[in-house]
Amino acid sequence: MTAQTQPCKHMQFDAQCRVARLEDSGRFMLEVGVRCIDCGKPFQFLGLQPGLNLSGATASLDGLEANIAICPQGVQPTPLQGLQGYTIEGHN
Ligand SMILES: [Zn+2]
Repeated sequence: MTAQTQPCKHMQFDAQCRVARLEDSGRFMLEVGVRCIDCGKPFQFLGLQPGLNLSGATASLDGLEANIAICPQGVQPTPLQGLQGYTIEGHN
């Protein structure tokens, strides 16, 4: 009987981040990958749609890379500015 190794508890991580500049659109994407240093297992991103979204966040088909649209500060409204421009209508 061979000794079973303990399953990795995934205590230490390596995060790879790259910024890609999309030449045709002039947009920028942050590409992120995370893996456990101890066992090397890559981590899967949850809750992201697959594909490419130049104005949002998506995951690769295997879920192991997140692609997040980014822009220089001031080019797009911040989330707070977006909220301030949002008006609530239809009160009773
Ligand atoms: Zn691990």
